[in-house]
Amino acid sequence: MGLFGRRKTVFVDADILVIGGGMAGCGATYESRYWGRDLKIVCVEKANIERSGAVAQGLYAINCYMGMQWGENQPEDHVRYARNDLMGLVREDLGYDIARHVDSTVHKLEEWGLPIMRDPKTGRYQREGKWQIMIHGESYKPIVAEAARKAATEVYNRIMVTHLLMDAKQANRVAGALGFNVRTGDFHVFRGKAVIVCAGGASHIFQPRSVGEGMGRTWYAPWSSASAYALPIQVGAKMTQMENRIVLTRFKDGYGPVGAYFLHLKTYTQNGYGEEYEKRWYEDTKALVGDYIDRHPVPTCLRNHAILREVAAGRGPIRMVTKEAFQDPHKETVGWENFLGMTIGQAVVWASQNIDPKHINPELTTSEPYVMGSHATCSGAWASGPEDYAPAEYQWGYNRMMTVDGLFGAGDTIGGTAHKFSSGSFTEGRIAGKAAVKYVKDMKNGQPQVSEQEYRDLEKLIYQPLENYRIGRNEIVAGTVSPSYLLPIHGLQRLEKIMDEYVGGISTNYMTNGVLLERGLELLAMLKEDMSHMGAEDLHSLQRTWELHHRLLASESVTHHTLFREETRWPGYYYRGDHMKLDDENWHCFTLSRYDRNTGKWEMEKAPVYHIVD
Ligand SMILES: Cc1cc2nc3c(=O)[nH]c(=O)nc-3n(C[C@H](O)[C@H](O)[C@H](O)COP(=O)(O)OP(=O)(O)OC[C@H]3O[C@@H](n4cnc5c(N)ncnc54)[C@H](O)[C@@H]3O)c2cc1C
Repeated sequence: MGLFGRRKTVFVDADILVIGGGMAGCGATYESRYWGRDLKIVCVEKANIERSGAVAQGLYAINCYMGMQWGENQPEDHVRYARNDLMGLVREDLGYDIARHVDSTVHKLEEWGLPIMRDPKTGRYQREGKWQIMIHGESYKPIVAEAARKAATEVYNRIMVTHLLMDAKQANRVAGALGFNVRTGDFHVFRGKAVIVCAGGASHIFQPRSVGEGMGRTWYAPWSSASAYALPIQVGAKMTQMENRIVLTRFKDGYGPVGAYFLHLKTYTQNGYGEEYEKRWYEDTKALVGDYIDRHPVPTCLRNHAILREVAAGRGPIRMVTKEAFQDPHKETVGWENFLGMTIGQAVVWASQNIDPKHINPELTTSEPYVMGSHATCSGAWASGPEDYAPAEYQWGYNRMMTVDGLFGAGDTIGGTAHKFSSGSFTEGRIAGKAAVKYVKDMKNGQPQVSEQEYRDLEKLIYQPLENYRIGRNEIVAGTVSPSYLLPIHGLQRLEKIMDEYVGGISTNYMTNGVLLERGLELLAMLKEDMSHMGAEDLHSLQRTWELHHRLLASESVTHHTLFREETRWPGYYYRGDHMKLDDENWHCFTLSRYDRNTGKWEMEKAPVYHIVD
């Protein structure tokens, strides 16, 4: 067995197995304990839940809070808002379910010590916008993690989950998961009666704007490696809206957020010549999407579209007008604190580029695409809805259960529900946790059966890259290029290039078409073939290798979905050059896919969109 001859196998049995201890995973762990006092609840995380996931650095605002106690908004209002922003297509049952519970989550967060700013005049939470409330959120994640730690029977940090296990006796039922400890190399076999996947979205599947020394500087966390999608896809769970990738307008080079600037500081944008430009693109956009351009607020993708058009017309760069707002010392402080609480890198970039926003209007740019189910887009698994609210067609079992028995999800994992953000993801974790406990209790003593043959075969596969490297490195004397293995960084760069050039990344100005997508799929298939030659020099590289596997499978899914939807539903996120217009007659629907791991084939279908809220 070579280098890792003394590697242990650790067996863990759980009633509820939560994969990923970010916002949704902590919510799922916390709530599972509330309903399942006597159950064994295990949370598995590849980093350390104390500072993991997209909220690791902290946040400055909670972006999803109704304020029902003060009559500010009702859950139906939030459904209308998300539906509008997603150009008509959201799972209204799931969105409503989160919105009706999210306030109680925020109240708990405050009770646990999260400082939420108050409006001194009204005593209510300080609003940044209609849905956002402002927080002193540097320690947001440790506060949430503490609740999960106290609720869990065990938290396993530093375990990279690579595969889900299926029941050996019962078809289409999940039975657990496999992973390895990224510090010791120990192999972990988890058996779980119910599994809740909360493993975050996907960055670095498209070529990022920052390359070389700046490679890790992306908007979305570089450690969000698509496991939330790849794990369910591998076992045949249906996915939805995977084409609905997100592109964000952010401060250039540091990807600093713009929400507080627009909403609280009331800054606005101009082109390179100091002109207002959005109105200029009104007719052009209307020709593409009809009256969606007249909706309020203007859907996020359409605002991106105006920026892209203006820059392509040669009138860039787009700038945020900060010079006026920053004359007010209070606003200047808020502007800087906004970064210090969540994106310190932007403040550093400005300092290094001699940009003082009081005197210079900083540039904005659009990011490379990411895949996320909890922000302003809704890619993810197709899940069963709440019993009291979902249409019959959206219900086949327990709330938030995927199309695989016993497999649940929350946060970025679940599709069709945009605009959940941190509080909504935690809330959806709670919803999934409650449903998973009910599932476990209903099955009484039914233990999932795991096949030893299956996990031993997978163990060999999981660690193979270490062997490939150990043997192959003898063929070279120096450097990183070898005739017989591929390092994870090289595989990642190849993936990003394919996705960028063929599936609508930055280098094509987010443009693709059927011919490009077909070719992209061929190139992805070739990369997939080469994945058996991955070489990992250490456990860190082994983790990167399995992250690449997950990114690749999610990328295939994105490409198939983008090919299937023959329209441009979200200009500004991506364009199908061969179908440039929004087509409500044929495509006012969800796209669904199912991957068959035995044949490697993808099946695509449409599912209806039910409008439940008027
Ligand atoms: C840059 C940025 C800014 C944001 N700003 C705001 C904001 O201002 N306000 C707001 O409310 N929301 C904001 N959000 C949204 C919010 O962060 C997300 O909605 C939320 O974190 C999603 O929760 P999640 O649990 O699905 O994913 P995450 O919180 O990202 O958690 C995923 C977890 O899974 C773990 N994991 C991944 N793969 C594996 C694996 N294979 N094995 C084991 N563990 C794994 C990760 O390490 C991580 O801990 C922002 C998001 C981003 C990216």
